[in-house]
Amino acid sequence: MEVNDPNNNTAPNSGSNAPVGSNNHGKNKKPRFNFTWVYIVIAIALGYLFFAGGDLDQNGTSKSVTYTVFKQYVEQGYANKIVANKDDGTVKMFVKPEHIRDVFQQGVTQTGKQPFVQAEFPSADKLDEFVTSQQELGNFKGELSYKRSNDGFMQIFWNLFPLLFIIVVWMLIMRRMGSGGGLSGMGSIFNVGRSRAQLVEKGGENESKVTFKDVAGQASAKQEVQEIVEFLKNPKKFTDLGGKIPKGALLVGPPGTGKTLLAKAVAGEADVPFFSMSGSDFVEMFVGVGASRVRDLFRQAKEKAPCIIFIDEIDAVGRARARNAMMGGNDERESTLNQLLTEMDGFGTNSGVIIMAATNRADILDKALLRAGRFDRQIHVDLPDLNERKAVFKVHLKPLKVDASLDVDLLARQTPGFSGADIANVCNEAALIAARHGKQAVTKEDFLSAVDRIVGGLEKKTKVMTEEEKRTIALHEAGHATISWNLQYANPLIKVTIVPRGSALGAAWYLPEERQITTREQMLDEMCATLGGRAAEELFTGHISSGAMNDLERVTKQAYGMIAYMGMSEALPNLCYYDNSEYSWQRPYSEATAELIDKEVKKMIAEQYERAKQLLLEKREGHNALADLLVEREVIYAEDVENIFGKRPWTSRTEELLTKQEEEDNPDTPDNPDSPDNSSFNTTAL
Ligand code: ADP
Ligand code: ZN
Repeated sequence: MEVNDPNNNTAPNSGSNAPVGSNNHGKNKKPRFNFTWVYIVIAIALGYLFFAGGDLDQNGTSKSVTYTVFKQYVEQGYANKIVANKDDGTVKMFVKPEHIRDVFQQGVTQTGKQPFVQAEFPSADKLDEFVTSQQELGNFKGELSYKRSNDGFMQIFWNLFPLLFIIVVWMLIMRRMGSGGGLSGMGSIFNVGRSRAQLVEKGGENESKVTFKDVAGQASAKQEVQEIVEFLKNPKKFTDLGGKIPKGALLVGPPGTGKTLLAKAVAGEADVPFFSMSGSDFVEMFVGVGASRVRDLFRQAKEKAPCIIFIDEIDAVGRARARNAMMGGNDERESTLNQLLTEMDGFGTNSGVIIMAATNRADILDKALLRAGRFDRQIHVDLPDLNERKAVFKVHLKPLKVDASLDVDLLARQTPGFSGADIANVCNEAALIAARHGKQAVTKEDFLSAVDRIVGGLEKKTKVMTEEEKRTIALHEAGHATISWNLQYANPLIKVTIVPRGSALGAAWYLPEERQITTREQMLDEMCATLGGRAAEELFTGHISSGAMNDLERVTKQAYGMIAYMGMSEALPNLCYYDNSEYSWQRPYSEATAELIDKEVKKMIAEQYERAKQLLLEKREGHNALADLLVEREVIYAEDVENIFGKRPWTSRTEELLTKQEEEDNPDTPDNPDSPDNSSFNTTAL
């Protein structure tokens, strides 16, 4: 049983959505050459050479003799033809048929037609001189000819053979080992050092024109990248004034918020080629491969300039280099990173290649990457707020056949904490659900079940429960509902169910306020509501159950966050012990402080638990009525709760924002410089 607070745990499936286009494997539809045949041909060729033994032109008996004996034979006029090989310093004398018996003591039938004697000659000059003199004397009528060494080639070949053999075996083994990322066979062996960047360009095979129109919301991010578009379109305007074109921009934000989409849109707007690669593509098990892929990527990009290089998940290579030697560090990753830095420094500022990279954690990146002249611009791409979600919905609803009565506002309101990718997912899922039910158009119900499904997993109506279990769950969920309804700062309730879904047995769904900052009172009210489930169990069943584990985990984490990171307890005011370094084994505080933190956490949770119990006792009739209704109907909505407890006297911030929006209905979200940076707040606020 869990309180569903989508603020904390609705990043469902984000990231599992393969970003369009950034997946460059498995899309290669070209028929692949089967390399097995190459191996077979090589093997046969080697075997043939091996058994033929090299001397392919030898079809007669031969005899090795000394140079002196060779000279005697020539002087006696036996030579038919003399062939010298300067490479290995040997000379062959083919014997005249009538003298074969004199030389070999055998007949032509035994020796073959062209037997020869072979000798080593002292030097080419001497041999030349000798042969010329014999020609003058009439002992030798033929010509002296020279020939490249076939044997020499064979010797080289045989020297190299073991090496070749090892290479072939190695290739076979590497191929077996799965070759990293999809490419198979020799391709991956000979191309390990090649970048695997996917290229999107005009007329290219995966041409896709994404423009800013396809990116909903993200007004400020768009505004910032607009500048890059200008640079790419008209670099002269900037360089004429002596300005330098930026080399890189870092898109920072949670997965699925449209970073890849934005980078693509920049390329699309500027009408330049777009290289897309994931940081993890650089990292392979071979040492040095990453660095050479980086080199290759930049080389390709320079050829296509002006263009954009997009590196997704740059943290895979760009993590801060290990400071302590104890951890050993990852040499391969570091050398890849170093190569990246070198390349970024290496190419001229005005070469027209702009690198965009995406990460969801800028704080773990190596400082060197963020230095001026590298990724000196950081563009924040946050989770969409209410109005942005509406815009994202509008983009993704376009291709769907939706029911005319569908209210986009409602959808946007029901999907707090969803990223753009999640919303795309909801739309798709809704269409599938509608299709499964044989509908003509996608309706509101389909969207809502898609949302439920994405947040909570599949409904499990088949889970067997006893009446008593059901009652306990109802009491628990009613506890959450009662408390959140009656506390000013708790999130407004949407619905409560006791239908099991995913691993949860029941759930209370809230509409989290889309706040820029959260106050202590708000956090405490939420904590109280989260503890309401267990408090109700204890009060009204007399037992406590395992069903509250999720609630307790959340509460504990939140309390630690409030006390150790946000300085929100009386005993430890204004202290933040947050440490964002990746490997830190030491707590940045003393043993005594650790004890104090633990004590404060216990105190805070105990206080809120007490408060929850008090409130439940106060509202016990209402709570019991709610639990009964839940057992009866399994799902109840905010209206039902309102019927029991009356209207909440407080208006929620979300309602306020919505009405304000309707009044203005201004498409440009005004930039609010005072609002604190949302994303960094999220990371610290557990
Ligand atoms: P990221 O790179 O930030 O992880 P992507 O750019 O790959 O996210 O987004 C994944 C998909 O989510 C996109 O292809 C698009 O369909 C959808 N999406 C995300 N953000 C938006 C947005 N602002 N507007 C429209 N669609 C979006
Ligand atoms: Zn609960």
